[in-house]
Amino acid sequence: MSYRTEEVAYVQPAQPAASAQAAQQKRSTAEYRALDAAHHIHPFSDMGSLNRSGSRVIVKAQGVYLWDSDDNKIIDGMAGLWCVNVGYGRKELADAAYRQMQELPFYNTFFKTTHPPVIELSALLAELAPEPFNHFFYCNSGSEGNDTVLRIVHQYWATQGKHSKKFVISRKNGYHGSTIAGGTLGGMGYMHEQMPSKVENIVHIDQPYFFGEAEGNLTPEEFALARAQQLEAKILEIGADNVAAFIGEPFQGAGGVIFPASTYWPEIQRICRKYDILLVADEVIGGFGRTGEWFAHQHFGFEPDLITLAKGLTSGYVPMGAVGLHDRVAKAIIENGDFNHGLTYSGHPVAAAVAVANLKLLRDDKIVERVKTDTGPYFQKKLRDTFANHPIIGEISGAGLVAGLQLAEDPKARKRFANGGEVGTICRDFCFNGNLIMRATGDRMLLSPPLVINKLEIDEIVAKAKYAIDATAQQLGIS
Ligand SMILES: *Cc1c(COP(=O)(O)O)cnc(C)c1O
Repeated sequence: MSYRTEEVAYVQPAQPAASAQAAQQKRSTAEYRALDAAHHIHPFSDMGSLNRSGSRVIVKAQGVYLWDSDDNKIIDGMAGLWCVNVGYGRKELADAAYRQMQELPFYNTFFKTTHPPVIELSALLAELAPEPFNHFFYCNSGSEGNDTVLRIVHQYWATQGKHSKKFVISRKNGYHGSTIAGGTLGGMGYMHEQMPSKVENIVHIDQPYFFGEAEGNLTPEEFALARAQQLEAKILEIGADNVAAFIGEPFQGAGGVIFPASTYWPEIQRICRKYDILLVADEVIGGFGRTGEWFAHQHFGFEPDLITLAKGLTSGYVPMGAVGLHDRVAKAIIENGDFNHGLTYSGHPVAAAVAVANLKLLRDDKIVERVKTDTGPYFQKKLRDTFANHPIIGEISGAGLVAGLQLAEDPKARKRFANGGEVGTICRDFCFNGNLIMRATGDRMLLSPPLVINKLEIDEIVAKAKYAIDATAQQLGIS
């Protein structure tokens, strides 16, 4: 037998019925780690130190729980990366992908063609989104969504004959993805430092982060208003004729679950209308039920011109992003000739079929409704009751099933730790060892569990978070 025949025999496909077997572990944790260290570069990671400590290998998941390769059961307080809204293991989504792959695994939407899944998805999004959002453009991620936003914004102003409107204003400590455009729009200094070339004409104003940045005796409402008014000052500095758009996350996600006071967004909207500037809501985290509303801009009560969607659109089961266009923007794009933008996988049929199955679950199982009226309020109250007067918790922000817990040296005086990032890491490590996924962003601990979480599971997350935060305080010698 030649080597070649042997090789062919070796790659015989597994039996379809062997799916349970396929889920079974193929290698030891040590083997997985060695191969991962040898060949895989992780996003946003210090690979040298990660390779020395070794990654946790996640092998399966169900509901709100993950299992690692050592068979530890971990409760996922982050819904993967803010995306697994319907929870893990939903057969409806797997079936939708399987059926669509057999029926039509791919076809493009470039050349006067379309297909049923992208048609169904667009109609369903128009039904679920607020009234003026009736048109959607597709891509594969939130970053590409924000790249697309820039393309649409510039095309829009070109159709209006306002060619000087080129500047886009965003915010420090905002997150809009990690492509060159997404990274430039975002206001993460540590990303900008590694980006010698950036997209032109993007400028940043300060974020509405009350706990960390309010000075003097300003109330949260006064502070948020002042931060919104920085937009007006920036527009006047650049000249309204030169400003195309303002973009912001309704609440900052990766920046630390920063919820602006109620005065912020109405003032931003007023300023955008006054100076004829498009208002873009990056709904990549806020969209699809996170706050208890379908979209986070509804929670804050404003009306954007464009919305960026991704993450919860497919609950992360397959990659997909989208941009929703307000009727007034869509009309200009539709009636003015070619729009020279697109991606091979724009409206990918499998992703679209999964998105439809996902959105129907969120709607028909009343998952979003339950976040608004039941589990969301329960989660928020439980956190606030549990950490009231805690010696190192300065504030709890959030609504629905998203929360930020501010670690602080002196909560009452709003005094942050001088080494806040280290304190966050200590706390994150206690969570990790307690089999809770809770993310640390500097000195803020973040929670954003799957939207299907029940009250018992919420109790488990909050109890484990309390244990980790108490242990952190103890290690710091604070009680
Ligand atoms: C995650 C995120 C993005 C980027 O999405 P990717 O799919 O990672 O490209 C953009 N905006 C916000 C608000 C996000 O949270």
